Amino acid sequence: MRVGIVGGGQLARMLALAGIPLGLHFVFLDPAKDACAAELGEHLCGDYDDERLLAQIAERCDVVTYEFENVPETSIEFLSARVPVFPDARALATARDRLNEKSLFRELDIDTVPFVPVDSLSTLQQAVTTTGLPAVLKTRTMGYDGKGQAVLREEADIEKAWRELGGVPLILEGFAEFRREVSMIAVRGRDGEERFYPLAENIHRDGILHISRSRPGDALEKQAQEYAKRLLEKLDYVGVMALELFDTGDELLANEMAPRVHNSGHWTIEGCVCSQFENHMRAVVGLPLGATDATGAAAMVNFIGEIPPAEQLLALPGVHLHDYSKAAKPGRKVGHVTIVSKDDSEATIPDALLR
Ligand code: AMP
Repeated sequence: MRVGIVGGGQLARMLALAGIPLGLHFVFLDPAKDACAAELGEHLCGDYDDERLLAQIAERCDVVTYEFENVPETSIEFLSARVPVFPDARALATARDRLNEKSLFRELDIDTVPFVPVDSLSTLQQAVTTTGLPAVLKTRTMGYDGKGQAVLREEADIEKAWRELGGVPLILEGFAEFRREVSMIAVRGRDGEERFYPLAENIHRDGILHISRSRPGDALEKQAQEYAKRLLEKLDYVGVMALELFDTGDELLANEMAPRVHNSGHWTIEGCVCSQFENHMRAVVGLPLGATDATGAAAMVNFIGEIPPAEQLLALPGVHLHDYSKAAKPGRKVGHVTIVSKDDSEATIPDALLR
């Protein structure tokens, strides 16, 4: 079977690394000449809305998936008319727009922060009376890693945030005083089979994920699974979905969903019987799903900008290295390591990795 992936970055690379042993072949669409997934399949080098290349994917592939939610809607429409695309256009349209996803959370009784759509300075001023301050103003689409958002702490921040972000559709959210950030990675097959990974606890640095730890058996795991289950079933979803949540101590509030494999699930490669990448591939091609049970407690540390030398990393006991083969560049995710404890005690991250 041949799988088309829109995007050729590290997520596409890890999908292919999981799919190749299943006998799958890959075609990637990515405008970057040095796309890091390219060495694992055929690379169509061009824009995500290049219809000539999209037509080639549709013709050559049995199924298409994607590694990021900002794929142009027109491209997904074009592909969907010619070849099965999973997750489908409706799931993508929901997840790519913060107002759509939060409205769906509300419809499904999934707790979330208060939110109000904003399209002018006066609607922003009005919205603040609903959310109170502090609040977070975000672009509805195209935001990632903390980009496209501003925290409003006092009245004077309202106009400043509008000047910074105004001009595109926005959403104002109440500020969640969370104790920790967690995520639930879930997967649903073409036949409706569902599996849920252990809860992950996530620490960000400069708006980018820094550390994820698996928390098998966490007290909030069941509720997070229940939220994810409602979303999977409502959307008739196929593939891996990530749901990011805030634990406030009193409540579990859903922040956003990603219609794809997710950075906070990279530890599943070594930390679970079947990884998020393999299960996404199994789901989209219509194979039975693999077990999501933890094989121990796992921790993942991201490398942003550059990777320490492999000689140093691999001298640390129990460290598994994933080098995405990307050029070093500030702010860019270039690799990660995973550590798994043999028993269920917390995986110890060597001090050398915590700088
Ligand atoms: P997001 O792009 O929605 O994932 O937001 C990036 C990060 O900003 C999150 O991981 C949180 O740390 C923080 N954040 C986002 N929304 C809120 C909110 N409503 N209240 C408090 N912190 C938030």
